[in-house]
Amino acid sequence: MLWRVNEVALITGASRGIGRGIALELARLGCDLVINYVSNLSAAQQTAVDCAACAQAKGRSIRSEVFCADIGKTEDRQRLIEFLKLIFGRLDLLVNNAGVAPDVRADVLDASEESFDRVLSINLKGPYFLTQLAARWMIEQSKTTVGSAEFKPKIITISSVSAYAASTNRGDYCLAKAALSMLTPLYAARLAEHGINVYEIRPGLIATDMTRAAKEKYDQLLADGLTPINRWGTPEDVGLAVSAIAQNLLPFSTGEVINVDGGFHIHRL
Ligand code: NAP
Repeated sequence: MLWRVNEVALITGASRGIGRGIALELARLGCDLVINYVSNLSAAQQTAVDCAACAQAKGRSIRSEVFCADIGKTEDRQRLIEFLKLIFGRLDLLVNNAGVAPDVRADVLDASEESFDRVLSINLKGPYFLTQLAARWMIEQSKTTVGSAEFKPKIITISSVSAYAASTNRGDYCLAKAALSMLTPLYAARLAEHGINVYEIRPGLIATDMTRAAKEKYDQLLADGLTPINRWGTPEDVGLAVSAIAQNLLPFSTGEVINVDGGFHIHRL
């Protein structure tokens, strides 16, 4: 059973970058969307407008709502789920995408606890507990009127190659992503009995605002042959991987890691 039009997806951090790329691909499928952001209302609104246009180009009509919530804050995560309950009354797909780089790239010998607390609360605690809220609600839905053989909720978490590749000037980011990679097996094992599949998408170098600060460094690494597929990744590359999962093309896979990294993870001699 492929994706049915007007299923509902929540994408955290969808105003810009990878989250925006995911929102656009889900809009093409005809999915209703909640576009979460934390500070950039105009970018979130622009994403919503562009999503509607993408859907329309496919002959579909979708509803896309923008919602401000700091994923690192307990009460904001609760408000976000309450908003979905009120406006859509269902959730078919959660995409944990929102994330931040450390404000300062500091060597592990100098890095601060303040940066650690900020990065861990947004990049790890936020998605872990948002997933808990969403999963509880998905289980409830599967037992009520929304639930049916066609209700196949899913959870996708956007991690990073930083889950295993050491960057000594952003240890907090690497630690958060390494721990985040355990979210998927934990929830996949727990939720399979409820028909909820859980996936990790692990992007490599993707051209967004986040990587702009280190663009020259990464341009040079790519020129030196960093990845077998020798180019920057795009938000669309990640969006297409999410789209494949959303369309139920991996029904017998859960707890799976999908590398969207141009082959960065391949050890070569
Ligand atoms: P980005 O361009 O900096 O965009 C970040 C998005 O997250 C924005 O929509 C931002 O909203 C939102 N956001 C930031 N803090 C938030 C918070 N506390 N609560 C809710 N939303 C928040 O970043 P990106 O490159 O697209 O990265 C997206 C995800 O992919 C992150 O988890 C990142 O770690 C991961 N990733 C990125 C790369 C890469 O090369 N770019 C590689 C691997 C993994 P506002 O617009 O309101 O600020």
